[in-house]
Formats: sequence, structure tokens, C-alpha cells
Amino acid sequence: MQPLNEMSIRFQSKSNNESFARVVAAAFISQLDPTLEEIADVKTAVSEAVTNAIIHGYEKKSGYVEMTCRLFRNSVEIIVEDEGEGIEDVALARQPLYTSKPEMERSGMGFTVMESFMDSVEVISEKGKGTKVIMRKTFKSVPD
Ligand code: ATP
Ligand code: MG
Repeated sequence: MQPLNEMSIRFQSKSNNESFARVVAAAFISQLDPTLEEIADVKTAVSEAVTNAIIHGYEKKSGYVEMTCRLFRNSVEIIVEDEGEGIEDVALARQPLYTSKPEMERSGMGFTVMESFMDSVEVISEKGKGTKVIMRKTFKSVPD
């Protein structure tokens, strides 16, 4: 299906850019006229995915994160991609409370949060190559 509108941004893996990406996604999806709650849901999911790319994907290294947003009539697709560390065992990483960085006081709830605020979350990752997270959400508030 062809999107009605699409945009991509590419930014350095610096923690300041997490709020930047969240605000950009919110502004872009606003065109569909979703509710404030639906916008907040998407912002939360984007935060988690971008934070993961910055913290886990690149850790202390620096690299680029790319976020693409595609708008459909009443739904959105958001892709957050890094070319960092990658994930060896995606099924394990997605388990609630699993974190590879307990010493950093991470709670291991990022993927669970993404899943609960979006309708679907797909994770494609390869060790040493990077990670791509594809999230989709239908806005029930937008009329048919
Ligand atoms: P929290 O999000 O609650 O602060 P967390 O980031 O450890 O903690 P999740 O976001 O659920 O928890 O991610 C689970 C694990 O998946 C991470 O600990 C990390 O090992 C791995 N992971 C997630 N995203 C990436 C990524 N982009 N690159 C490499 N590893 C990742
Ligand atoms: Mg996380």
C-alpha cells in the first residue's frame, strides 16, 4: 500500500536526539488528526526504540539512527533503524524484564512498552550489523 505521506530523518546517536525524534514523529503524525492520547502512545514507543538504538546499538560508539514515518489514511508505520551492535537473540531481548544492562539500572521493559502502545512491533536484527524496529498503529479516532 502506498503511503499518503512519508518522511525520514537521520541523526547522530546522542541522547539529546531522543526527544528530538519523539517531537518530530508527533508533529508529523498530527496530520492524521489522532487524539492526544494516540499521539502520546506513539511518542512513548518512539522514545523507547530510539533510546535503544542510542544506548544498546551504539553504546559508547557514535553512529547514526534513522527514523522513517509513513502515514496511511488512519494508521502510521514508524521504522527506527541503527547500524550498531545488533541483537543475537531477538526473542529473548523482547521478553519483559530482560535487559543486557542491569548494571545501568535499565528495567528491560522497552520492547514491552512498544508492544503495549502500538498495534504491532517487528524486530529485525543481526549481530554486528544493526537493528530495525518496525512499529504500526491504527488510529481508531480517525473516521473510516
Ligand atoms: P529499558 O528499555 O526498560 O530501559 P532495556 O533497554 O534493557 O531496558 P528493552 O528496551 O526491552 O530493555 O531491550 C531489551 C534488550 O534488547 C536490551 O537490553 C538490549 O540487550 C537489546 N536491544 C534492544 N534494542 C537494541 C538495539 N537497537 N541494538 C542492540 N541491542 C538492542
Ligand atoms: Mg530499552
